[in-house]
Amino acid sequence: MLDTQTNRPELPPEIARRRTFAIISHPDAGKTTLTEKFLLYGGAIQMAGQVRAKGEARRTRSDFMQMEKDRGISVSASAMSFDFGKFRFNLVDTPGHSDFSEDTYRTLTAVDAAVMVVDGAKGVESQTQKLFEVCRLRDLPILTFCNKMDRESRDTFDIIDEIQENLAIDVSPASWPIGVGREFMGTYDMLNDRLELMDRADRNVVAESVQIESLDDPKLADHVPEHLLEQLREEVEMAKELLPKLDPQAVLEGHMTPIWFGSAINSFGVKELMDGIGTYGPEPQIQTAEPRKIAPEEKKVAGFVFKVQANMDPKHRDRVAFVRMASGHFKRGMKLTHVRTKKPMAISNPVLFLASDRELAEEAWAGDIIGIPNHGQLRIGDTLTEGEALRVSGIPSFAPELLQGVRAGDPLKAKHLEKALMQFAEEGAAKVFKPMIGSGFIVGVVGQLQFEVLASRIEMEYGLPVRFDQSQFTSARWVHGDRKAVEKFADMNKQHISYDNDGDVVFLTRLQWDIDRVARDYPDVTLSATKEMM
Ligand code: GDP
Repeated sequence: MLDTQTNRPELPPEIARRRTFAIISHPDAGKTTLTEKFLLYGGAIQMAGQVRAKGEARRTRSDFMQMEKDRGISVSASAMSFDFGKFRFNLVDTPGHSDFSEDTYRTLTAVDAAVMVVDGAKGVESQTQKLFEVCRLRDLPILTFCNKMDRESRDTFDIIDEIQENLAIDVSPASWPIGVGREFMGTYDMLNDRLELMDRADRNVVAESVQIESLDDPKLADHVPEHLLEQLREEVEMAKELLPKLDPQAVLEGHMTPIWFGSAINSFGVKELMDGIGTYGPEPQIQTAEPRKIAPEEKKVAGFVFKVQANMDPKHRDRVAFVRMASGHFKRGMKLTHVRTKKPMAISNPVLFLASDRELAEEAWAGDIIGIPNHGQLRIGDTLTEGEALRVSGIPSFAPELLQGVRAGDPLKAKHLEKALMQFAEEGAAKVFKPMIGSGFIVGVVGQLQFEVLASRIEMEYGLPVRFDQSQFTSARWVHGDRKAVEKFADMNKQHISYDNDGDVVFLTRLQWDIDRVARDYPDVTLSATKEMM
């Protein structure tokens, strides 16, 4: 049967109830707090605060994680599943620090929507803006949560205007705050004509929800002081007049974002936001792939790796490949084809990430995220199917912006270093280039901090002290063209040529002039700052 709104076949109920999303925000806006409350309402944890407590226990287990904690950033990403009402939510965590934007970008290829959290006093901040641009590239639907309304915050119209202006997206208020700062007492639910009143005393419950007929309902006066009521009536009237009405289709197309106001720490507004994700967030979407797209309702299972993480559990030196299921109904023990190597893989120990633990995934549907422990067979961008040679597309690799040479502190350990570097390259934590001439490696990253993270991980996980030093190169470009032309080009420019961990040819240079020269002198090849992972 066709869905009247989308003109697509209706999804099997198990798939239709899935909502797979990420949270984008600037550090400190409240992402962690909001995540905790999601899990609280999702029944995944008993008490809010556990994500943090658990996280801390895990972090102290290693220096690297310690560093993550000291700097107040989250380097590693994970996925969490929980139920809310009739929905199954899959929340994919995005690393918050700007140095890890490539990782973030790839994470966003695995979700169908994003929740944007802004601080009510600060509005749209730099990192939010950046992440938003990435979502826009994929036309991801965005739902907005304006947090920290219990504190002095900006005027509601100002906040909405700023989002509309800076992000060029229509904003439609799903709720409207009553009072600000100390006077903030709750919201008026614009979609259901209800008052949601906040209880500052108990942070884990929403105190009261008052059903009203309209803003003229005399019942209102029992709950809201006269001066706030007047202001509320005025503002809501203006909002209805000036701001666009919520249009679910525009939300799905990424042209409009509904905004909810609340206070994550007081658990206020969170439930309404969750209802909103269920109602306006999309079902699992069609996945672009070659040579054909993959639709979630297809009977056969397909999925793709968007992240690889090593040493999630220091006791087991395994890696976990995070796989977004693109179609079908996966069952534990299934044999899937690893399309890149054409080899079958029995998926016998897939894991599902529940709030506080990981457990075996007996099954998974399109939209779900599962973790597959492996010893390095699975790389970012890999596709798993029931046999068909499909390759999910659109997972890019970006040219690094910083390059450094790397050497093992102990020259006899060069082989170990190579192994360590290859692991990080496959995880997507760095680009590793082996120069055509000479020995050693050149490592490329997006932000300076990544060098430090790498150095401490190599030392910790491989017992190998390393030294990074300045490289003579500052830019890397992949060389595209037919094989012969690329080989010939490499041969004539040996001092600039390296191979990445897939064996692809990379041109390294310090000068833009060099890049222009190649464009002029070698019409058979092109240099590019991205390559698609396959
Ligand atoms: P993240 O960096 O985005 O993950 O932000 P956190 O969730 O760690 O929150 C940053 C700080 O803001 C913490 O001290 C939180 O306790 C605080 N915070 C989070 N939500 C609220 C809120 O609704 N009101 C107030 N006043 N503080 C909040």
